[in-house]
Amino acid sequence: MLTLLLLVACGPKTPRPAVSTGPHALTVMHTNDIHGHFEPEPAEWIEGRPAIGGFVRLEQEVRSVRDARGRAQTLTLDGGDQLTGTPLTEINEDGSLGGAMHSLLDRVGYDAWVVGNHDFDKGLDNLSHYAQNHPILPLSCNLLTPGGTQPLLPQQELSHIFKVAGMRVGVIGVTTEKLAGLMNKRDFARLTLLPEAAAVQAEVNRIDPATDLIIVLSHVGVENDQRLANDVTGIDLIVGAHSHTRIENALHINDTWIVQAGSYNRELGIVDLVEQDDHITDLRYELRDLLPSTATVTADPEMQALVDTYKQSIDRVYGETVSSAGALLGRSYNHESPLGRWITDAMRDQSGADVTLYNGSGLRADIPAGPVTRLTLFQCFPFQNPVMRFTLSGKDLLGIVLQNLAADADEKRGFLSTSGLTWTWRKNVNAPEVVTASIGGQPLDLTHDYSVAASSYLVEQWQKYIGAEPRNVEATGFTDLDAAIAYALKGPVKDPADVRGIEAK
Ligand SMILES: [Zn+2]
Repeated sequence: MLTLLLLVACGPKTPRPAVSTGPHALTVMHTNDIHGHFEPEPAEWIEGRPAIGGFVRLEQEVRSVRDARGRAQTLTLDGGDQLTGTPLTEINEDGSLGGAMHSLLDRVGYDAWVVGNHDFDKGLDNLSHYAQNHPILPLSCNLLTPGGTQPLLPQQELSHIFKVAGMRVGVIGVTTEKLAGLMNKRDFARLTLLPEAAAVQAEVNRIDPATDLIIVLSHVGVENDQRLANDVTGIDLIVGAHSHTRIENALHINDTWIVQAGSYNRELGIVDLVEQDDHITDLRYELRDLLPSTATVTADPEMQALVDTYKQSIDRVYGETVSSAGALLGRSYNHESPLGRWITDAMRDQSGADVTLYNGSGLRADIPAGPVTRLTLFQCFPFQNPVMRFTLSGKDLLGIVLQNLAADADEKRGFLSTSGLTWTWRKNVNAPEVVTASIGGQPLDLTHDYSVAASSYLVEQWQKYIGAEPRNVEATGFTDLDAAIAYALKGPVKDPADVRGIEAK
């Protein structure tokens, strides 16, 4: 006690001890939002659709940068959302769904990763196993156990100080504070989530005296990264994720640099910086597309073997052709879309409900023209949420129509695809208005109760998506993907011709 008192009483603010004043040159390589994408995929936006990305190509690029700069001068970070998006993360390995990512990421060699919202998709217990067996250090300063006393996950640290490039580099993880709306409620009740900026500032203050450079490895999205740069003092560099943003020129706000490398394992972000006297004095950023034509070192046969093995086991389960599509079924986040019509029809066919609903953010890929395999459908609906049946009133359903009209008009929110519920609308002075609304061809009765089916995610997030609390909720026993496969097996996959929201003449 005496010692403590003396320390408190006598301790003038100690100047930051520096290892040396520098300059130090450091290269930070980073990826984010890999979402299980492990193979090269056609780059639809580039002429000739070259195969882009995948772990073989990523490892080549990381190795070539390490060869050029010297391994001891580099840090390699991943911004999270490693899970959900391809069948790779449906494979149970190392005791968790997604464990296959361990071998692939480990073969590349990373120093740390931050936990993203989608890493919770298979549940908190799965994520705990995943983090426990992860060869790479999980970071997050705002994800704690209930009561807020400990890091939430095994192995997790709030931040870590790496001795690299002759200096001490503090890397702080931060996870989106909007997690409550992005994961299941039962698991959310089993953790403490601190506000992003306050948690980062506290951690910056804690490690600042022992570091020469502070990097925030963030899974909060580029807009919130800019907010952090404005509100938190002492961050040198934010390596971002979550918004899947391709930042081609590093942003610079309030002495803080911000970078982010797209998504799906298609690009590698490369930050070359110089630090002197606790500050970045020079920074160059390159967002490098992982195209086959730009590889400068040969592929790693062991990585290739790993990828081939996973691909074969996935093909065995998901390779089966279940139907065919004569033309592409596209999707949209803000508007009605062919894929949205098709999946809600599939769910209505399977559930027998009066109305089915599907959120735009849940449609993860288009169905291309050609054979439709289980894999095609998995890529569209990878979350495999259980479909629930419940009751909504006609008034509640009219509320959904109004939300959809607003989404369609301002493009700022998601559209809820519907089957069974149709409407006509017209433009008005300020906002579009509903002219007619029908259920199964009959006028919508505002006082009547209707049976509705939608994913468990929509039911849990009813405040955000439905606007009225679902009543009499029960499980149907099938998932959205089950409904899609069952429907595809019945006949060719095509855009249902009946448009749900029609502009009145
Ligand atoms: Zn995310």
